[in-house]
Amino acid sequence: MSFSSFGLSPALVKVLAAQHYEQPYPIQKEAIPAILQRKDVLGIAQTGSGKTASYVLPILSNLQGNTTVKNRHARVLVLVPTRELAVQVREVFILLGSELPERVKTLAVFGGVSINPQMIGLQGVQVLVATPGRLLELVESNAVHLSEIETLVLDEADKMLNLGFREEMNRIFTLLPQKRQNLLFSATLSPEVANINQIILHDAVVVKIEPEKEQIDLIEQTGYFVTLEKKGPLLRYLIKKNGLQQVLVFISSTFQADNVADKLCKNGIDAVSIHSKKSQGARTEALREFKTGKLRVLVTTDLLARGIDIEFLPCVVNYELPRSPKDYIHRIGRTGRAENPGEAISFVTPEDQHHFRIIQKKMGKWVTMIDSQNIDLKGF
Ligand code: AMP
Repeated sequence: MSFSSFGLSPALVKVLAAQHYEQPYPIQKEAIPAILQRKDVLGIAQTGSGKTASYVLPILSNLQGNTTVKNRHARVLVLVPTRELAVQVREVFILLGSELPERVKTLAVFGGVSINPQMIGLQGVQVLVATPGRLLELVESNAVHLSEIETLVLDEADKMLNLGFREEMNRIFTLLPQKRQNLLFSATLSPEVANINQIILHDAVVVKIEPEKEQIDLIEQTGYFVTLEKKGPLLRYLIKKNGLQQVLVFISSTFQADNVADKLCKNGIDAVSIHSKKSQGARTEALREFKTGKLRVLVTTDLLARGIDIEFLPCVVNYELPRSPKDYIHRIGRTGRAENPGEAISFVTPEDQHHFRIIQKKMGKWVTMIDSQNIDLKGF
């Protein structure tokens, strides 16, 4: 199956070829035709599945032939949980739409930065990618109106709900026209997501993409039994001894993230932490450097890591284990993409051992365990 068989415009197919998108991914095979027919879609899929292009392509296609817009009345609204994802989604709209004969103006709006440039940018906007809070601020100042929205996309709906955006989302729904297309994407179908799905979706086409078992098999997973105070030295030992590059380290608290990154730097390992307390500028810069391979280690909380889209990541470290087995698979799944083997390292304290067994059971795979007591960590 090729992209041209969907009836997408030649301009879109041309960009896809230039980007080496040879074949549609499974989610794209199912979602693109449904969205082109203006049906509602519920997509259960994670970052890495190709979900962004699965809605960006048909939306751009549907806008062609009629790109007129009432000023400050966007026609497509994409709601996302984080600023990082807002920026990434906008980039995909711009990239995939770059050869279209009729220009589609896309803007990303999010909090934590000055609102004025966003107000000015909303002039003539067709596609608006937004985090819920900032969108409401802009609506309240009449900088944008939602009464002409034809397509609503909720991307990473589960994350939006986890972050407590429910109330803002409900307010936004009341501002939209009744008749519209609704597309909901979520990594998991939690009861809260199912509830939103019932409220907004009509006769939706359901596309469910399970994280692929083979993908997990591609990843070399190792667990290290380690005590809390030895985690720092062990991390530095592994990075230095194994010459690890482009390492994504997961940590739960912002304080710990800063602490671990500082200690890595003090030990001559180039590292930066990103979390919700860092400025937008600092976060974007760190992500850029990490993606291009200039920055060796990125220490991050789950929330910000969620939207990080890197084609292939060689190494992920669970400095702290995630609560749910699903999150564990999602974290390590970033390393086994595109048929490249990746490495996933997990630190397991005595208190974590039971939880780590549950994770492995759910994943259906046992992880090789190494006792760090047998490693000489002196000097690290
Ligand atoms: P996403 O799940 O939207 O974050 O996409 C994951 C990555 O897959 C992105 O880097 C896309 O550029 C890439 N991608 C999406 N669809 C395709 C495709 N059909 N062929 C090759 N790469 C793709």
